Amino acid sequence: MNYERILIRYGEISTKGRNRKIFVDKLKKSIQRALVAYKEIEIEANRDRIYILLNGADWDQISPILRTIFGIQSFSPGIKVALDIDEMKTAALELVSSHFKKGQTFKITGKRADKSFELNTDEINHTFGSHLLKSIPGLKVDVNTPDINLQIEVRKEAAYLSCETIQGSGGLPVGSSGRAMLMLSGGIDSPVAGYLSMKRGLEIEAVHFYSPPFTSERARQKVIDLAEKLSMISGQITLHIVPFTELQQAIHQQVPENYSMTTTRRMMLRITEEIRRKREGLAIITGESLGQVASQTLESMFAINEVTNTPIFRPLITMDKTDIMKIAQEIDTHDISILPYEDCCTVFVPASPKTKPRRDKVGHYESFIDFEPYIQTAVSGTEMLHIGEAVTAKKLEKDINDLF
Ligand code: ATP
Ligand code: MG
Repeated sequence: MNYERILIRYGEISTKGRNRKIFVDKLKKSIQRALVAYKEIEIEANRDRIYILLNGADWDQISPILRTIFGIQSFSPGIKVALDIDEMKTAALELVSSHFKKGQTFKITGKRADKSFELNTDEINHTFGSHLLKSIPGLKVDVNTPDINLQIEVRKEAAYLSCETIQGSGGLPVGSSGRAMLMLSGGIDSPVAGYLSMKRGLEIEAVHFYSPPFTSERARQKVIDLAEKLSMISGQITLHIVPFTELQQAIHQQVPENYSMTTTRRMMLRITEEIRRKREGLAIITGESLGQVASQTLESMFAINEVTNTPIFRPLITMDKTDIMKIAQEIDTHDISILPYEDCCTVFVPASPKTKPRRDKVGHYESFIDFEPYIQTAVSGTEMLHIGEAVTAKKLEKDINDLF
């Protein structure tokens, strides 16, 4: 079937009142970015819906791409027909014939947005329904659970016909909810946390801590690869890579072993907070899930969280590992995450970290050394990578001081 256009419906956005325009603009941008390779298409957006005019582009290629875009509730391929009953009959027949298989049932859902059209809704259903029944042998009506639901929408300028509705990803368009920093390790969880946050409309910038030479180039590359997977959803991602070796060594020397993990996490959070402030983000996201490991007990989170007032989102907090892994597989990050390259935390962190650290004790141990200069050095040595920008090149900007 040679479709002329795709109708895109956005469920949740339409409830957002005056913010609607922003949401529609962001969604339009997401669609443009995802379909950048299809030069021939045009996108028309108005306050109720978005149309993609295909201009010859292949629906079968574009449909799977649209399924990945956040903010689309459902979409239907369709054709535009002049407001002429004979032309509409011909188009309806062509469309339904292309879908019909022996023994299938159908119904017509007519809608008349323009009341000046000569047929009302019942008459639309009846006129086109009887034409199809006459023309397609074996076709039967079923108004409750039809195999084919032919939608005929009469608007002022034309009629739109479609008989297929495909579910989209739902959620909100990326960037429509603001910017947040994702603490991205090389593990399974944090990419999933990033994905779920993007689904809720957040624009993500990733922050990764590495400790060369204790962590290898391959461990660093793994995180770049994960960020690249996430950038396929958002179009591009900024990744901040923080040199963490000196700070970890200082912690190792100054803080008793069973508290070093807690302090390490607090320092990571303080640095992420600095980068967040400079990048004008409004939240921090982690891949923590309650009870998974020592740093993820409630007592631990309580002690770590103390260093910032910024909202910390933990999209996985209540999820089981198996459910997290399922999502990791769906978004294609799982197989990268399980590569066995050492993380900065595993290199330095003791065999038995405190699972119930006390805030007063952490504060006490940290008071023997001024961590602030270490934090500033780490921040100013941070590399900023722009990954997956418009699917083209990776741009590397070494000295972030110039940019901040
Ligand atoms: P993940 O699978 O995301 O690595 P995890 O189950 O290994 O998580 P932890 O090691 O306790 O759990 O890490 C908890 C969270 O802290 C991570 O999800 C991530 O958000 C953050 N984090 C841990 N290590 C790093 C790192 N090297 N760089 C940036 N963030 C990190
Ligand atoms: Mg980890």
